[in-house]
Order: sequence, then C-alpha cells, then structure tokens
Amino acid sequence: MNIILLGPPGAGKGTQARVLEERDGMVQLSTGDMLRAAVAAGTEVGQQAKAIMERGDLVTDEVVIGIISDRLEEDDVKGGVIFDGFPRTLAQADALGALLGTKGLKLDAVVEMRCDDSVLVERVVGRFTCGKCGEGYHRSFKKPAKEDVCDKCGSTGGFKQRADDNEESMRTRLLNYYKDTSPLIGYYHAKDTLQTVDGTADIDDVTAQIAKVLS
Ligand code: ADP
Ligand code: ADP
Ligand code: ZN
Repeated sequence: MNIILLGPPGAGKGTQARVLEERDGMVQLSTGDMLRAAVAAGTEVGQQAKAIMERGDLVTDEVVIGIISDRLEEDDVKGGVIFDGFPRTLAQADALGALLGTKGLKLDAVVEMRCDDSVLVERVVGRFTCGKCGEGYHRSFKKPAKEDVCDKCGSTGGFKQRADDNEESMRTRLLNYYKDTSPLIGYYHAKDTLQTVDGTADIDDVTAQIAKVLS
C-alpha cells in the first residue's frame, strides 16, 4: 500500500509514519528528513536548502521532486511507502502522480491529519529526536521512559532539536501550509483518495483512526 500523510507541521505525520513502518513494514519517505541529511552532509542541495528551511519557506519543487524521483528507484519502495511531507504543492502532487504512473505504482490513500493551529506550535516547539535512531519525542506528550535515554535504541548519546522548530519559523511554515499545501486537500478529495482523521487526539488514538481508514 502507498499512502500520503498530509497535514500541517506538527500534525504527527512523522510519528504515525514510524508506527506504520514498524507495524506494516512500509517505508517512510520524508522529504524533510532527506533535506536535513543533505544539509548535514553539506551537499549542493543541502547548501541551497539550509537557509530556506530555517526560515520555514519551501524548497523548490524541482529539488524535492528530484529527491523523491531518485528515492523511488530503490528496491525497498516495492513493499509500500508512506509519503511524509511530500507533496506540499500542486506541482509536486502532479509530479508524484506522473512518477508513480511510470513506475507502475498506485496511490492507495491520502490521509489528512486535521489539527487546530493552537496545538501545533506547542507540539513543534517541544519536539526533539534521538540523535542516533531518529525516534521522535515531545517534552510533554511523549517523553522517553527514562530521562536522556532513547526508548527505541537505548542511546544516551543525546537528543536533537531542529533549527526550525521555533515560533517564528513555525508561523511562516503554517502560512505556507495554508497557502501552498492545503489546496491538496481538495485535489485529492476530487480524486476520491482523501481520508480525514482527527490529528488533535492522543497519539494512540490517531494510530487507531488511521488503521481504520486504511482497512
Ligand atoms: P510532523 O511530522 O507532522 O511535523 P511529528 O510527528 O514530528 O509531526 O509530531 C510533532 C511533535 O508532536 C512531536 O514532538 C511528537 O512527539 C508530538 N506528537 C505527535 N502526535 C501527537 C499527538 N497525537 N498528540 C500529542 N503530541 C503528538
Ligand atoms: P514538518 O515535520 O514540520 O512538517 P518537514 O520535516 O516535513 O517539517 O520539513 C522541514 C522543511 O523542509 C520545510 O519547512 C521545508 O523548508 C522543507 N521541505 C520538506 N519537504 C518539502 C517539500 N515537499 N517541498 C518543499 N520543501 C520541503
Ligand atoms: Zn534512539
């Protein structure tokens, strides 16, 4: 099964993608993670993207479509993928449709994770991840069982916070979401692939809602 998780920053896309990966053996394709890896590696794409991402603006369609196109060449995508944070514009959605078509892959569902803005800032500002395995946490809503130790991999090597997870960048990201990304809700609704869940519910509750709409 190939699905898109669609929702504003902080909606819980990454959190739910990792559950689906673990439970159903799908692979998470997060353009945000791929771009952050490019920034860390100092590649040409990374150098171009760094300041744009810190501000909370969108990287060009050309760059992200190129990244996804390359990634879809790899063998592991055959077991099913979760697009997380892609597509984010109508141009990206059209390009994804064309790419999947040429590779003989089908888009089974688009899951919109609907959330009030009021919860999003708190979620993003309190977000951190394990520096080793990437597991996501939250200061109030998803603390590690033991302080400073990753539940997933046991690492004590430290947690990381994203450079763009601050209120100022978040305001820009929310504006960009409403301007450029939210039109995708209508786009996929018209294609009959849209399913909506309540993203403000607890993490486990959202997991259950997603399982239900995908069954
Ligand atoms: P996204 O990938 O959509 O930006 P994340 O999955 O990274 O969002 O979640 C943002 C933050 O909110 C993380 O710190 C995560 O632990 C937390 N979080 C995710 N889902 C929920 C939820 N349903 N309720 C409370 N906190 C959540
Ligand atoms: P969030 O989890 O908060 O939704 P992401 O990790 O998906 O954020 O993305 C972080 C940043 O990377 C975005 O603010 C944007 O600058 C860039 N980015 C990620 N995916 C895309 C995309 N599909 N198109 C354009 N820019 C993107
Ligand atoms: Zn870890």
